[in-house]
Amino acid sequence: MKAPFEKILIANRGEIACRVINSAREMGVRTVAVYSDADRQALHVELADEAVHIGPSPVSESYLVAERIIAAALETGAQAIHPGYGFLSENPEFVEAVEAAGLTFIGPSAAAIRAMGLKDAAKDLMQAAGVPVVPGYQGENQDPAFLAAEADRIGYPVLIKARAGGGGKGMRKVEDPAQFRDALESAWREGQSSFGDPHVLIEKFITSPRHIEVQVFGDAHGNVVHLFERDCSLQRRHQKVIEEAPAPGMTDTVRAAMTEAAVTAAKAISYAGAGTIEFIVDGSGPLRPDGFWFMEMNTRLQVEHPVTEAITGVDLVAWQLRIAAGEPLPVSQDALTISGHAFEARLYAEDPSNGFLPATGKLEHLSFSGSSRNDTGVRSGDTISPFYDPMIAKVITSGDTREIALARLVAALRDTHVAGTTTNTEFLATLALNTDFQHGPFDTGLIERELEGLTMPTPVSEEHLAFAALTGLGIRPDTPRLGWRLWGEARHTVALACGPDRFERHLILYPDGAITLTGGARDVTLRDVMIDKGHMRATTGLHNAQIEARAVHAPRPDGLLISVQSGGVVHDFSLFDARLGSATVADEGHVVVAPMTGMIVSLGIAVGDTVEPGMKLGVMEAMKMETSLIAPRAGRIATVLCAAGQTVEGGAVLVTLEEEAAA
Ligand code: ADP
Ligand code: ADP
Ligand code: MG
Repeated sequence: MKAPFEKILIANRGEIACRVINSAREMGVRTVAVYSDADRQALHVELADEAVHIGPSPVSESYLVAERIIAAALETGAQAIHPGYGFLSENPEFVEAVEAAGLTFIGPSAAAIRAMGLKDAAKDLMQAAGVPVVPGYQGENQDPAFLAAEADRIGYPVLIKARAGGGGKGMRKVEDPAQFRDALESAWREGQSSFGDPHVLIEKFITSPRHIEVQVFGDAHGNVVHLFERDCSLQRRHQKVIEEAPAPGMTDTVRAAMTEAAVTAAKAISYAGAGTIEFIVDGSGPLRPDGFWFMEMNTRLQVEHPVTEAITGVDLVAWQLRIAAGEPLPVSQDALTISGHAFEARLYAEDPSNGFLPATGKLEHLSFSGSSRNDTGVRSGDTISPFYDPMIAKVITSGDTREIALARLVAALRDTHVAGTTTNTEFLATLALNTDFQHGPFDTGLIERELEGLTMPTPVSEEHLAFAALTGLGIRPDTPRLGWRLWGEARHTVALACGPDRFERHLILYPDGAITLTGGARDVTLRDVMIDKGHMRATTGLHNAQIEARAVHAPRPDGLLISVQSGGVVHDFSLFDARLGSATVADEGHVVVAPMTGMIVSLGIAVGDTVEPGMKLGVMEAMKMETSLIAPRAGRIATVLCAAGQTVEGGAVLVTLEEEAAA
């Protein structure tokens, strides 16, 4: 098939920029990325054929600067601009400026965006088109006494919404008339500060609400199809957390009514491109054809579009490009069917046990399950900066049934390993296992109701500590050089920190290969330990249960980071003594330092000797325990700064290796 464009510019960053680039490439369309200072090395820049720097890190000086982005498109000869979501995607002035420059906007017309831009006007428009809307007041009058009277008329609880709102902002639920005035003023303030528009509307708060939305697609020839529904009821603070398609409990009758309303809505504004009609649904009982109401339309590609792709087999971005180029919709409604079930979980750098505080930091490691679709804009070594949305990835799974797709989501989340920053991975897995979510019924209040159980962090286990200790000490039982079988029983002391908690443990290595971790509330013994490139396996306990872990380590300014993922739980540790890290970790560092204050018992090397990684260089005694001094990497001994019998301070450099020849 002919490529719809030769070259397009993607006016976005992160996972959605990468997502668009991937589809464009498959279609034979060349891509231009734009980037800010903070994104110089970003994945979307690497993936695109060309990239243009558009300004400093803050979005107001880069990704929101329309002129700069349009200039970049003209400079590089791009014919069209894909806005992604967020940023300039729903800005009608941007669309007009793109078109005035002779370029194509990959999205709807400025008029369609404007028609749906303000929630109050959109509701009026939809009501006129015969689409059911949430009962409420969406007029011009903003007099507080008048609005309070309207709230009484509508009946409590009510929802005050900033008409320009988005992303769950500018919304206040009011249960009691006495609180109306305060809530109104705070919604006004948030509307003004976040969207530059204080104007609000009042809606009936639908009890046991479910959020069900319909994906629509129109072309420039007046055709509109729908691609069924998505259920996005799992929300926190009105923001989606896990989405799925199709909606649980959906019947043919209700689906027919909802999709027909959505297509009517799109036709009412001659919609061309990808769009989503969001409905609030009465979830207090089975779904009913008269139990859903229009909330708003998002005139762009939606974050959760992959679940629709999974059940329909359609590449929505490919369709966007074709329709923007003037082609008709590739298929008719009859050709679209639902196959199976899909879920998406939004993986964020945030701390659920600390009020979901956004986190930043370097992703020392990032790996996903091989059995999920993982849409991401970052890779190992990238930094989650404070400038942008802290989403790390979207984890998407599908299967023949809801049960299978959900089980796969849990498995994929448990297999996801992010090291270096706090994430909501465990929260998402716990949520996916929630009984109400698994079996229903559930509504948008589920997360809030069960917040405590969902956000309880799993305590550090002795097994995690044992794996961390083995990693931190660079012990690999299958490497005879490590001398653990050779030298007989050995004891090591490790001190690990995990957040505010500190753990001091002793690791005893037995000649038969078993390892015991002592010093905690209970001892744990690992047998049949296998370590292969950070993947660790062992048996433990009376019944020889198999346990597994993935461990990664990375030097950081404040010490060695050791991240252990086991049983679906990730804990990031740092070796208590920063200097201990470089002493014991394999593959890194030029020095061997004393892990603690003590005496050098023996030293088996001299300047000029060649050593292998993990090789035992000598033995120290401290706190009545022997600790091996281990070569951090292969190399030649440059200096020896201690001698047998000498007492050395914890952290003192004992041996240095020659600089490695540049590779
Ligand atoms: P969607 O409806 O596509 O799932 P949301 O309703 O969650 O998206 O958010 C609305 C818009 O706000 C999206 O375009 C999204 O990119 C943007 N957005 C969501 N969360 C944030 C955030 N934390 N910071 C900046 N933009 C955000
Ligand atoms: P935004 O533009 O921020 O996405 P929406 O109008 O789409 O604003 O509402 C966001 C969320 O708030 C919905 O997904 C839903 O969970 C909740 N919500 C909105 N309107 C109502 C309502 N009338 N009754 C109950 N919940 C609502
Ligand atoms: Mg919405």
